[in-house]
Amino acid sequence: MARPVTIVTGGSRGIGAATCARLAADGHDLVLGYVSNERAAREAAEAVLAAGVRCVTVRADTSQEADVERLFDTASAELGPVTGLVNNAGVTGPLTRLADARTEDLRRVLDVNLLGYLLCCRRAARDMAASGGGAIVNVSSAAATLGSPGDYVHYAASKAATDTLTIGLSKELGQDGIRVNAVSPGLIDTDMHATMGDPGRPARMADSIPLGRPGRASEIAAAVSWLLSPDASYTTGAVLRVSGGR
Ligand code: NAP
Repeated sequence: MARPVTIVTGGSRGIGAATCARLAADGHDLVLGYVSNERAAREAAEAVLAAGVRCVTVRADTSQEADVERLFDTASAELGPVTGLVNNAGVTGPLTRLADARTEDLRRVLDVNLLGYLLCCRRAARDMAASGGGAIVNVSSAAATLGSPGDYVHYAASKAATDTLTIGLSKELGQDGIRVNAVSPGLIDTDMHATMGDPGRPARMADSIPLGRPGRASEIAAAVSWLLSPDASYTTGAVLRVSGGR
């Protein structure tokens, strides 16, 4: 039987890299997207290839339509019809109250987290409908329901939009045999916190998490893998919170 062909955006680091490693272990051929860190992409791809599946890396800014089209064109040309999409590439901008946020940071968060997810979902919907179905997992955030006051309400709002996109698109695409779900991570130990200006954040906030610790990227990858798998064949429109109880 042909292996699933899955695109993971932001597959070079953090949750995306862990998802690529997990999906490779589960027998997916992979297209690993990244925006700038070529070295991290190469290392993540090496881990995937070591599992004995195929892997293509593509530099593509998901907020750019032409890049998204090239990402999907490369996937189908090199690996065959795309059966899975993990919409994972996301940014927060610096931690700040909205009153102090810069317009360019607000715009970038919405361009990557919302427009980027829409562009990837749109192309996946077209391709998967034409090839008989597939599954999409959107990586959202517990911030969508917490609101993240004082940190990044704009980011939280972009993730609430991800949840709405997931629910609406699942209903739109059910008849095409395409399942659409989301995973909502809580606080996960990745580079993202250093990038937003607070590397110690996950450890410092452990006490506010019912399970008493930040999550590991592999714990999100496991949920993504299940939602893509035949075991989730009757699951669509779900927003699966994986947040240690937060
Ligand atoms: P991360 O460690 O900062 O990694 C971000 C990944 O996204 C990198 O692979 C990066 O590529 C890629 N990326 C960023 N902007 C991109 C763009 N415009 N186009 C394509 N790729 C882009 O982040 P993470 O913590 O793994 O987060 C992954 C997802 O989980 C995000 O959607 C995030 O919102 C969500 N999430 C994270 C947490 C958390 O606590 N970490 C919690 C809830 C939700 P390069 O390597 O090339 O820079």
